[in-house]
Amino acid sequence: MSRSVLVTGGNRGIGYAAVRAFLQRDDHVAFTHRTESASFDLVHDGALPLYCDITEPEQVESAFKEAEAENGPVEVLVANAGITRDSLLLRMAEEDFAAVLETNLTASYRLAKRAVHSMLKAKRGGRIILVSSAVALRGEAGQTNYAASKAGLIGFGRSLAREIGSRGITVNIVAPGLTDTAMAAALPEERVEKIVGDVPLGRIGNPEEIASAIAFLASEEASYITGAVLPVDGGISMGH
Ligand code: NDP
Repeated sequence: MSRSVLVTGGNRGIGYAAVRAFLQRDDHVAFTHRTESASFDLVHDGALPLYCDITEPEQVESAFKEAEAENGPVEVLVANAGITRDSLLLRMAEEDFAAVLETNLTASYRLAKRAVHSMLKAKRGGRIILVSSAVALRGEAGQTNYAASKAGLIGFGRSLAREIGSRGITVNIVAPGLTDTAMAAALPEERVEKIVGDVPLGRIGNPEEIASAIAFLASEEASYITGAVLPVDGGISMGH
């Protein structure tokens, strides 16, 4: 059965691959975009583009309203959009710490809260997937802000899973390792080489591999999984 799915940051990278994975499963998919016009091929293939900066509460509300009007109450939320502003702690400006927390953690709270509202009203259960990072589990020099935000998602997601499990809503966390997107392309080559050197599978991931895990956690096959952290990282974090 087709579901109403909302993916944030769907214009590129992991979010784009997730939108494609849901389209392949014949779901009704809405996705947010912010800095560019919406991906032409996703729209061509039937996805609904929603202009939305997730740090703006009114834009999040409008995006949900539009998705609900077009596709029905949101049944699957993929909170994927995220940013990095890397630097060593002693050089990290307070605004860079705050901006990363605001986008990666506070906006996920905002999105999940709105999605739960939609799911409870529809009374059909639901799936929330939060995109965290292997960095939340193992830490990374230069990413204290990012690691704090992504580790925060784990505590947030697990607490929410306990709150709303009785309503048939699952909340799970995907923790990707280094993945071939614009975010990874921004890293210096030596840093990528060093990280890849620690990956048992010896390479970085591709967005489709992360999207498969997201689609699985949203599927009927994952109906008894909630509060889980699923690393998709070539083994770099060994699950913790
Ligand atoms: P990209 O930089 O390619 O994409 C990030 C996405 O987030 C873009 O679609 C961007 O929108 C969106 N976004 C950022 N800020 C906002 C905002 N304020 N409002 C709305 N949308 C926003 O990164 P990835 O695809 O790699 O990352 C996706 C997720 O995966 C992130 O949460 C990231 O932290 C996580 N991750 C990535 C890893 C990697 O190695 N790539 C590893 C581990 C986790 P727009 O295109 O409009 O700017």
